[in-house]
Amino acid sequence: MKKQQRADLVQQRLADLYPDPPIPLDHKDEFTLLVAVLLSAQCTDKKVNEVTPELFRQGPTPEKMRDLGEPAILQIIRPLGLSKQKAKHVAKLSEIIVDQHDSKVPQSFEGLEALPGVGHKTASVVMSQAFGVPAFPVDTHIHRLAQRWGLSSGKSVVQTERDLKNLFPESTWNDLHLQIIFYGRQHCTARGCDGTKCGLCQELYPRRKTPVVWIKP
Ligand code: SF4
Repeated sequence: MKKQQRADLVQQRLADLYPDPPIPLDHKDEFTLLVAVLLSAQCTDKKVNEVTPELFRQGPTPEKMRDLGEPAILQIIRPLGLSKQKAKHVAKLSEIIVDQHDSKVPQSFEGLEALPGVGHKTASVVMSQAFGVPAFPVDTHIHRLAQRWGLSSGKSVVQTERDLKNLFPESTWNDLHLQIIFYGRQHCTARGCDGTKCGLCQELYPRRKTPVVWIKP
Protein backbone atom coordinates (compact mmCIF):
# COMPACT_ATOMS: atom_id res chain seq x y z
CA MET A 1 0.00 0.00 0.00
CA LYS A 2 1.35 3.43 -0.94
CA LYS A 3 1.73 6.21 1.65
CA GLN A 4 -1.22 8.21 0.27
CA GLN A 5 -3.42 5.09 0.33
CA ARG A 6 -2.46 4.53 3.96
CA ALA A 7 -3.30 8.16 4.75
CA ASP A 8 -6.71 7.86 3.06
CA LEU A 9 -7.46 4.68 4.99
CA VAL A 10 -6.41 6.24 8.31
CA GLN A 11 -8.61 9.26 7.63
CA GLN A 12 -11.60 7.09 6.77
CA ARG A 13 -11.26 4.84 9.81
CA LEU A 14 -10.74 7.74 12.23
CA ALA A 15 -13.72 9.64 10.81
CA ASP A 16 -15.86 6.53 11.39
CA LEU A 17 -14.57 6.13 14.95
CA TYR A 18 -14.69 9.81 15.96
CA PRO A 19 -17.16 11.61 13.67
CA ASP A 20 -17.30 14.75 15.79
CA PRO A 21 -14.24 14.89 18.04
CA PRO A 22 -14.71 17.21 21.05
CA ILE A 23 -12.01 19.60 22.29
CA PRO A 24 -10.61 17.83 25.38
CA LEU A 25 -9.51 20.93 27.33
CA ASP A 26 -12.37 22.75 29.10
CA HIS A 27 -12.51 26.45 28.19
CA LYS A 28 -14.95 29.31 27.65
CA ASP A 29 -13.28 31.39 24.98
CA GLU A 30 -9.98 31.87 23.16
CA PHE A 31 -8.20 33.29 26.22
CA THR A 32 -9.13 30.40 28.49
CA LEU A 33 -8.26 27.93 25.72
CA LEU A 34 -4.83 29.52 25.29
CA VAL A 35 -4.18 29.25 29.04
CA ALA A 36 -5.47 25.65 29.20
CA VAL A 37 -3.25 24.58 26.29
CA LEU A 38 -0.23 26.23 27.88
CA LEU A 39 -0.96 24.41 31.14
CA SER A 40 -1.25 21.07 29.36
CA ALA A 41 2.47 20.85 28.52
CA GLN A 42 3.83 17.58 29.96
CA CYS A 43 0.56 17.06 31.80
CA THR A 44 -2.71 15.24 31.09
CA ASP A 45 -5.79 17.15 29.93
CA LYS A 46 -7.69 15.55 32.82
CA LYS A 47 -5.35 17.14 35.38
CA VAL A 48 -5.61 20.51 33.64
CA ASN A 49 -9.43 20.29 33.65
CA GLU A 50 -9.28 19.76 37.42
CA VAL A 51 -7.51 23.08 38.13
CA THR A 52 -8.97 25.37 35.44
CA PRO A 53 -12.49 25.79 36.92
CA GLU A 54 -11.00 27.66 39.89
CA LEU A 55 -8.35 29.42 37.80
CA PHE A 56 -10.94 30.69 35.31
CA ARG A 57 -13.35 31.60 38.10
CA GLN A 58 -10.74 33.93 39.56
CA GLY A 59 -9.11 34.95 36.28
CA PRO A 60 -11.70 34.73 33.48
CA THR A 61 -10.20 37.54 31.35
CA PRO A 62 -6.65 38.72 30.57
CA GLU A 63 -7.15 41.73 32.91
CA LYS A 64 -8.43 39.62 35.80
CA MET A 65 -5.71 37.01 35.28
CA ARG A 66 -3.04 39.73 35.25
CA ASP A 67 -4.49 41.22 38.42
CA LEU A 68 -4.61 37.79 40.05
CA GLY A 69 -0.84 37.67 39.70
CA GLU A 70 1.78 34.94 39.59
CA PRO A 71 1.70 33.81 43.26
CA ALA A 72 -2.10 33.29 43.28
CA ILE A 73 -2.00 31.55 39.90
CA LEU A 74 0.73 29.25 41.20
CA GLN A 75 -1.32 28.44 44.26
CA ILE A 76 -4.18 27.21 42.05
CA ILE A 77 -2.15 25.32 39.44
CA ARG A 78 0.37 23.79 41.86
CA PRO A 79 -0.85 20.18 41.27
CA LEU A 80 0.39 20.44 37.67
CA GLY A 81 3.94 19.68 36.55
CA LEU A 82 6.18 22.70 35.84
CA SER A 83 3.70 24.82 37.79
CA LYS A 84 6.16 27.60 38.72
CA GLN A 85 7.17 28.21 35.14
CA LYS A 86 3.58 27.95 33.90
CA ALA A 87 2.31 30.44 36.53
CA LYS A 88 4.98 32.90 35.45
CA HIS A 89 4.04 32.50 31.78
CA VAL A 90 0.28 32.82 32.38
CA ALA A 91 0.75 36.02 34.42
CA LYS A 92 3.13 37.54 31.88
CA LEU A 93 1.14 36.63 28.78
CA SER A 94 -2.02 38.07 30.36
CA GLU A 95 -0.17 41.34 30.95
CA ILE A 96 1.12 41.38 27.34
CA ILE A 97 -2.33 40.63 25.91
CA VAL A 98 -3.80 43.54 27.90
CA ASP A 99 -0.99 46.00 27.12
CA GLN A 100 -0.14 45.10 23.54
CA HIS A 101 -3.21 43.40 22.06
CA ASP A 102 -6.11 45.42 23.44
CA SER A 103 -7.00 42.50 25.75
CA LYS A 104 -7.62 40.16 22.82
CA VAL A 105 -5.75 36.93 22.08
CA PRO A 106 -3.67 37.56 18.93
CA GLN A 107 -5.14 35.78 15.93
CA SER A 108 -1.88 34.93 14.17
CA PHE A 109 0.94 32.41 14.57
CA GLU A 110 3.47 35.25 14.93
CA GLY A 111 1.48 37.04 17.63
CA LEU A 112 0.82 33.85 19.57
CA GLU A 113 4.34 32.47 19.33
CA ALA A 114 5.72 35.78 20.64
CA LEU A 115 3.88 35.21 23.95
CA PRO A 116 5.82 33.62 26.84
CA GLY A 117 5.42 29.85 27.08
CA VAL A 118 3.67 29.61 23.71
CA GLY A 119 5.46 27.51 21.10
CA HIS A 120 4.37 26.44 17.64
CA LYS A 121 2.28 23.52 18.90
CA THR A 122 0.31 25.61 21.40
CA ALA A 123 -0.18 28.35 18.79
CA SER A 124 -1.43 25.74 16.29
CA VAL A 125 -3.99 24.38 18.76
CA VAL A 126 -5.31 27.89 19.47
CA MET A 127 -5.38 28.85 15.79
CA SER A 128 -7.34 25.71 14.90
CA GLN A 129 -9.62 25.28 17.92
CA ALA A 130 -10.30 28.93 18.81
CA PHE A 131 -10.14 30.59 15.41
CA GLY A 132 -10.95 27.72 13.04
CA VAL A 133 -7.76 28.25 10.99
CA PRO A 134 -6.47 24.97 9.49
CA ALA A 135 -3.43 23.80 11.47
CA PHE A 136 -1.86 20.47 12.35
CA PRO A 137 -0.41 20.66 15.86
CA VAL A 138 2.02 17.77 16.25
CA ASP A 139 2.76 16.57 19.76
CA THR A 140 4.67 13.47 20.80
CA HIS A 141 1.53 11.29 20.37
CA ILE A 142 0.82 12.36 16.82
CA HIS A 143 4.53 12.07 16.04
CA ARG A 144 4.45 8.46 17.29
CA LEU A 145 1.29 7.41 15.45
CA ALA A 146 2.40 8.97 12.18
CA GLN A 147 5.47 6.73 12.30
CA ARG A 148 3.59 3.59 13.31
CA TRP A 149 1.20 4.11 10.41
CA GLY A 150 4.04 4.80 7.98
CA LEU A 151 2.95 8.38 7.29
CA SER A 152 6.20 10.04 8.35
CA SER A 153 9.81 9.06 8.98
CA GLY A 154 9.94 10.56 12.48
CA LYS A 155 12.95 12.77 11.72
CA SER A 156 11.45 15.65 13.72
CA VAL A 157 8.05 17.05 14.71
CA VAL A 158 8.55 19.76 12.09
CA GLN A 159 8.96 17.08 9.41
CA THR A 160 5.95 15.13 10.74
CA GLU A 161 3.78 18.26 10.55
CA ARG A 162 4.94 18.86 6.96
CA ASP A 163 4.30 15.23 5.96
CA LEU A 164 0.81 15.12 7.47
CA LYS A 165 -0.16 18.44 5.89
CA ASN A 166 0.90 17.06 2.51
CA LEU A 167 -1.06 13.83 2.92
CA PHE A 168 -4.40 15.14 4.20
CA PRO A 169 -6.76 17.78 2.77
CA GLU A 170 -6.54 21.09 4.64
CA SER A 171 -10.24 20.95 5.50
CA THR A 172 -9.63 17.81 7.58
CA TRP A 173 -6.55 18.93 9.58
CA ASN A 174 -8.39 20.32 12.61
CA ASP A 175 -10.52 17.21 13.13
CA LEU A 176 -7.70 14.80 12.27
CA HIS A 177 -5.42 16.30 14.88
CA LEU A 178 -8.03 15.49 17.55
CA GLN A 179 -8.98 12.12 16.06
CA ILE A 180 -5.35 10.93 16.06
CA ILE A 181 -4.96 12.05 19.68
CA PHE A 182 -8.12 10.16 20.73
CA TYR A 183 -7.00 7.04 18.88
CA GLY A 184 -3.54 7.26 20.46
CA ARG A 185 -5.01 7.57 23.95
CA GLN A 186 -7.43 4.69 23.51
CA HIS A 187 -5.40 2.25 21.46
CA CYS A 188 -1.91 3.27 20.43
CA THR A 189 -0.12 4.38 23.59
CA ALA A 190 3.59 5.06 24.02
CA ARG A 191 4.10 1.55 25.38
CA GLY A 192 5.52 -0.78 22.78
CA CYS A 193 3.31 -2.54 20.27
CA ASP A 194 4.17 -5.22 17.75
CA GLY A 195 2.08 -3.34 15.21
CA THR A 196 -0.43 -6.13 14.63
CA LYS A 197 -3.08 -5.90 17.31
CA CYS A 198 -5.40 -3.18 15.93
CA GLY A 199 -7.54 -3.64 12.86
CA LEU A 200 -6.12 -0.41 11.50
CA CYS A 201 -2.52 -1.66 11.39
CA GLN A 202 -3.68 -5.04 10.11
CA GLU A 203 -5.22 -3.23 7.15
CA LEU A 204 -2.27 -0.87 6.64
CA TYR A 205 0.42 -3.55 6.99
CA PRO A 206 -1.17 -6.98 6.52
CA ARG A 207 2.23 -8.68 6.35
CA ARG A 208 3.82 -6.90 9.32
CA LYS A 209 5.60 -9.38 11.63
CA THR A 210 8.16 -7.33 13.56
CA PRO A 211 7.49 -4.64 16.18
CA VAL A 212 7.25 -1.05 14.98
CA VAL A 213 10.21 1.04 16.05
CA TRP A 214 9.44 4.71 16.53
CA ILE A 215 11.78 7.62 17.11
CA LYS A 216 10.93 10.01 19.95
CA PRO A 217 10.98 13.73 19.11
S1 SF4 B 1 -1.41 -2.10 16.08
FE1 SF4 B 1 -0.09 -1.06 17.52
S2 SF4 B 1 0.97 0.48 16.30
FE2 SF4 B 1 -0.85 -0.12 15.15
S3 SF4 B 1 -2.46 1.30 15.75
FE3 SF4 B 1 -2.62 -0.50 17.08
S4 SF4 B 1 -1.43 0.03 18.92
FE4 SF4 B 1 -0.83 1.44 17.26
